[in-house]
Amino acid sequence: MHIAEKIKEYTTLLPSAISLIAVSKTKPVADLMEAYEVGQRIFGENKVQEMTSKWKEMPKDIEWHMIGHVQSNKVKYMAPFVDLIHAVDSLKLLKEINKQAKNNDRTIRCLVQIKIAQEDSKFGMSWNEALELLASETFKSLENIEIAGLMGMATFTENTSQIEQEFKKLKGFFDEGKKNNPSFKELSMGMSSDYNIAIKNGSTMVRIGSDIFGARNYN
Ligand SMILES: *Cc1c(COP(=O)(O)O)cnc(C)c1O
Repeated sequence: MHIAEKIKEYTTLLPSAISLIAVSKTKPVADLMEAYEVGQRIFGENKVQEMTSKWKEMPKDIEWHMIGHVQSNKVKYMAPFVDLIHAVDSLKLLKEINKQAKNNDRTIRCLVQIKIAQEDSKFGMSWNEALELLASETFKSLENIEIAGLMGMATFTENTSQIEQEFKKLKGFFDEGKKNNPSFKELSMGMSSDYNIAIKNGSTMVRIGSDIFGARNYN
């Protein structure tokens, strides 16, 4: 694989306002270091334990993004260092993140994951549920979290117009949410197969895994 070349390619190709999250789940530290050596500083992982052990081993100027579904009982392990949690989908989880952030005397930035795909398997809230959450008194009492915006995953399909429609929908929610939530700054959408469509439709963060690091090995 040519990880360094890929990072350089993305750095050149992406507009400077769009952050590249190098999704390194299942990959060894040596692969992440190859990306680090050419300047990559944001890595995305989907398992708390794996992210924590990589954080311990690697240079401390890396931003670690948790992009996967999070179980409440795992939050405490990443609370000291995680930079952004992309896939928050319940008030219960937010309360736990707030509690652990407070224990660590910090504010943790989060994105609310909105379900835009047609598949049942994708996590996330409906936009109405998210609006309800953001308007709730419980949410407003949480002082150690900041909702930095929204995240979503499009349906896994060859049908690019469907993907485009889903991303446009999410961008619409993001713009609506921004009106009442000045902390909304990031719209995390786009992966290896659909980041071009995501960028055209207002993404501020793309999460690229296999196109940089090659196919994942889950054994
Ligand atoms: C694995 C993963 C990605 C990266 O997927 P690729 O298709 O390999 O780019 C992006 N977002 C989430 C939430 C993921 O779990």
